[in-house]
Amino acid sequence: MKNKNITTLLRHFFITTAIIFICTLVSLFFVELHIRTENIIMIYLLGVLFIVIETKQLVWGIASSFISIITFNYCFTQPLYSLHIHDPNYIITIIIFLIVSIITNILMGKLQKHAAIAHYNEQQTLAFYEISKSFLNLSGIQTIFMHTIHALYEYQNIISVLYYYDEKSKQLQRYQDDAMPLALHVVDELATWCYKHQKACGHATAINGSEQWSYHPLCHGEEILGVYAISHTPELTKENELFIHTLIAQMVMALEREQLYAQQEQSRIAIEKEKLRNNLLRSLSHDLRTPLTNIAGSSAVLLENDDVFDSEMKKKLMKSISSDAQWLTQLVENLLNMTRIQDGRLLLSKRCEVVDDIICEALQRCESRKGSHTISAHLPETIQLVNMDGQLIIQVLVNFIDNAIKHTQPTSHIDISFTQKKGKACFEVSDDGNGIPDNMIDTLFDSFVTTKSERSDAKRGVGLGLSISKAIIEAHGGTIYAHNRADGHGAIFGFYL
Ligand code: ADP
Repeated sequence: MKNKNITTLLRHFFITTAIIFICTLVSLFFVELHIRTENIIMIYLLGVLFIVIETKQLVWGIASSFISIITFNYCFTQPLYSLHIHDPNYIITIIIFLIVSIITNILMGKLQKHAAIAHYNEQQTLAFYEISKSFLNLSGIQTIFMHTIHALYEYQNIISVLYYYDEKSKQLQRYQDDAMPLALHVVDELATWCYKHQKACGHATAINGSEQWSYHPLCHGEEILGVYAISHTPELTKENELFIHTLIAQMVMALEREQLYAQQEQSRIAIEKEKLRNNLLRSLSHDLRTPLTNIAGSSAVLLENDDVFDSEMKKKLMKSISSDAQWLTQLVENLLNMTRIQDGRLLLSKRCEVVDDIICEALQRCESRKGSHTISAHLPETIQLVNMDGQLIIQVLVNFIDNAIKHTQPTSHIDISFTQKKGKACFEVSDDGNGIPDNMIDTLFDSFVTTKSERSDAKRGVGLGLSISKAIIEAHGGTIYAHNRADGHGAIFGFYL
């Protein structure tokens, strides 16, 4: 600091001496040209102006005025090279020069001060604009707080620590940049006091006024959100304080926006859950009734007419009961998985499974529902092991095969295949039905997206099979896909693991 002052002093001295020296040289040249002595004083006035502009200090302006007068008197008035003045006209010239140069100095000083203030204000406005713009793109309390701490340091060299009241832990959570060494001296107890009493404490206040940190409540309207602590080494200026208040106000606005987002997200989830529950209830009341009535009706008919019906008839009725029961089991299985996915309880029990076993098990589960569809499986020639949750993957395959049965003509053909592509296991179920309707391609994997089945005897779908399959595959870190066949006959559903 001291070194810097000495350097500035020397610089100003050098500038002053150099300018007066140049003025003297120019004046000597003018004298050679027989220009009148009264005009020479103007050169010195010009020099004094340059000195004030360069040094930006009134004191150097006044000092240079006196030096100029002495030099002018010594070098250019009669008797030459003496400080005596014979001609009283020069005394008046010198006095006027002094008055003019001092007034000019003062005006210049003021002008420079205003220019400096204007420049400072412009810098501040620019800084505030940059800061408010940057707050717009931030999300997350941690990011907003760290951004504020860095902005305070970057723009004003102010070291700060922020506290936010965490509803979960019911405690003030501290945010600081450990790279700022002073941040270590902050006192958590004073921050807690400030939060509890909603009053500033620490530096220059009635409570622990000798501290180097001051603690201020971080308020949003009536609500207190936390505390901001500011280091007062070095001592803060009025401009610093203004900057802090503006920045904190911006930060509170960003926090408010963050809270609004969180609330919005919560209401969205609540609405989504409510919608899901309503859809589920509507679908269930609709879809459970038909198979249950069938089961109840068929079993009652069987019981009452045991001795009347021949074995063929009995077999037909029992087959219908079994098919309905299996459909219900399938539905319940999907519903159970869906609730587990919704609650985040879908835990995978992964292990290496033999692909043949998985596909055969899926085929077996669909056997009773396949009717006159032909299903062929292209199994790998060698034993293939894939790390997966076998039961859930079987469920996905069953959903695909069931869909192919439900949404194609009774005589259609269904293919199941397994391939290894780029180190990934790929399961695919394709059919030669009418394909996926164009208007459904984008929403196919959403919940409750369904159309009437191709077959009049099939049960109405609930629209959960594909959305659950997607969740299961994504939980495995895989990708699910669906598209119509290139030849336009049928659809292909598959997934990579
Ligand atoms: P659901 O089968 O209960 O309707 P899904 O989620 O399993 O529900 O299927 C959603 C929709 O996708 C079906 O309603 C159907 O319109 C379409 N879909 C699924 N599989 C096929 C397929 N193999 N061929 C044509 N459309 C299909």
